[in-house]
Amino acid sequence: MTEKSKGKAKGKDGFKDKGNESKIKKGIFFIIFFVVIAEVTFSAQSQKTFILGSLSAEPGKMVSSWLEVPAGQDPATQIPVTVINGIKPGKVLAVISGIHPYEYPPILASYRLKKMINPKELSGTLILVHIAHLSSFQRRTIYYNPYDWKNLNRVFPGDLKGTQSQRIAAIITEEIINRAEAVIDMHCGDGNEALIPYTYWMTCGDEKIDEVSKQMALAFGIRHIIIDSTRPRDLKNSRYLSWTAILRGKPSITTEYGYLGRVDEEMIQANVYGVLNVMKYFGMLPGKAQLLSEPVWIDKYEVIYSKHDGLFYPVAKMGYYVQVGQIVGYIEDYFGNLLEEVGAPFTGILLYIINTPPCNTGEPLFEVGRVKESSK
Ligand SMILES: [Zn+2]
Repeated sequence: MTEKSKGKAKGKDGFKDKGNESKIKKGIFFIIFFVVIAEVTFSAQSQKTFILGSLSAEPGKMVSSWLEVPAGQDPATQIPVTVINGIKPGKVLAVISGIHPYEYPPILASYRLKKMINPKELSGTLILVHIAHLSSFQRRTIYYNPYDWKNLNRVFPGDLKGTQSQRIAAIITEEIINRAEAVIDMHCGDGNEALIPYTYWMTCGDEKIDEVSKQMALAFGIRHIIIDSTRPRDLKNSRYLSWTAILRGKPSITTEYGYLGRVDEEMIQANVYGVLNVMKYFGMLPGKAQLLSEPVWIDKYEVIYSKHDGLFYPVAKMGYYVQVGQIVGYIEDYFGNLLEEVGAPFTGILLYIINTPPCNTGEPLFEVGRVKESSK
């Protein structure tokens, strides 16, 4: 309305017009008032209470409790879990640490994240599995469960009628993976592994899932990314946690940051940063995600396994480039006799290498990755 027309309207019937003006103002006030109320009510209603096992987190609340793994042929166990349910609707992201619980930085990062994230500022729901494999954490075992001596990250999707590792996997598949829309499985070098940081980007051929997993890898921020299309496609034998999520249609990454049972601040912070940045990528937290601009893609990798029991002596270090056939380490028997010199299968970067003496038949010695031509 122009000044001119305003004046004209007032001149016509001042008293009546004044009344109209205040009525209009009141009307606008009430419209705004109801829009605000409706907005608040709508967003509160649209974000629902998140129920997980015995946990129930209302919008804007954080709840921690146990996920119970019932007893079977061996003892029961429990999984400490926190659900942070945002005030606003959004993605459901599961962040799992402690599948291998001698891998400490991801576990410590998980507890730090719990203290950092305010559910009132969160959109969506964050599920934090703090220590997925508690019996192994308590016994300080690497790789294996102390009851059934299975590797938890080889028995997915699990079996409720199986041994403890299989039952833990089954509960995680049912209660965590199936409830989430995206999954991060955080690892690092185990207690015996010297490892440079890297992420597994597992591709399944579904463009949408692969693309979101890729963006998650770029957002997590670890420079070396393995492009991995080698995982078994059998739903009943998906073996690995992240791959189980992907086969169920949920984008997922496996991250590796930290090594040798160490708890350096830098390792913990890198894991924390990665999760927060993936949350930004999904719009769960305010702010723009920083995506890696110059990742180093690894397009082929191979884990070399020991053919002997004995002692392993590494002669190359993590992160070193090794030439095909170059001796990476050697194995001696329990009397100090040389059993084998172990060479690199192809020229590439040493992603991890066993850095403590025990070596057992069938267990990993080192992993070599080939850097993709275009990312050199
Ligand atoms: Zn691991």
